[in-house]
Amino acid sequence: MRVLVIEDEHKIARALKKALEQEHYAVDVSYDGDDGYAMATTEPYDVMIIDRMLPGEYDGIGIVKALREKGIKTPVLFLTALGRVEDKTTGLDSGADDYLVKPFALEELLARVRALLRRPIEQQSTILDAEDLSLDTSKREVKRGNKKIRLTSKEFGLLEFLLRNKNRPLSKDTIMQHVWDYDADILPNTIEVYIKYLRAKIDKPFGKGLIKTVRGFGYKIEDDNK
Ligand code: CA
Repeated sequence: MRVLVIEDEHKIARALKKALEQEHYAVDVSYDGDDGYAMATTEPYDVMIIDRMLPGEYDGIGIVKALREKGIKTPVLFLTALGRVEDKTTGLDSGADDYLVKPFALEELLARVRALLRRPIEQQSTILDAEDLSLDTSKREVKRGNKKIRLTSKEFGLLEFLLRNKNRPLSKDTIMQHVWDYDADILPNTIEVYIKYLRAKIDKPFGKGLIKTVRGFGYKIEDDNK
């Protein structure tokens, strides 16, 4: 899943990027409001973490208001040093989905991000599945039947995206935009290569292939039970 961080304090922004990447997210960072606004409105993100006070024409609230006016419903987590009740309500009134007051523990931020990502799709479960394949987003664990499968960070991110969109054909472009960040070195066959790695781990050893190729388009993960 791809995350945008808009935060002008470089130290915090770097720490967030590092922590989120360790959790297998693709992460883009912007250090000011105007640049952040441009990225937020042109690239497809799954979650945005936006600092409230930002240099530039757009502050955090301005960005979220503009996004919602454009019909972009990506979940937004606001960061701020202001912790008073009225600041919190203005943040949420502007269209943010959640709010975290600085200083915060990275663990808490990661838990909030996970909660925002599962909000529209499932209620509370952290488990995504297709037939006997399961992926636990909070334990970062993948299993087929009872067998645990070790995946690299990118393989995990790719599988998570396929499972969140189970039974839906996804174009290679869509996959690329949600699983890889802006600065990633993407070659024309990068997606194919990672699908191959993933199949070798989650499909080949188990006989039945769950990842299907959609000819001339992309891929989907198929669950015959649902
Ligand atoms: Ca700031």
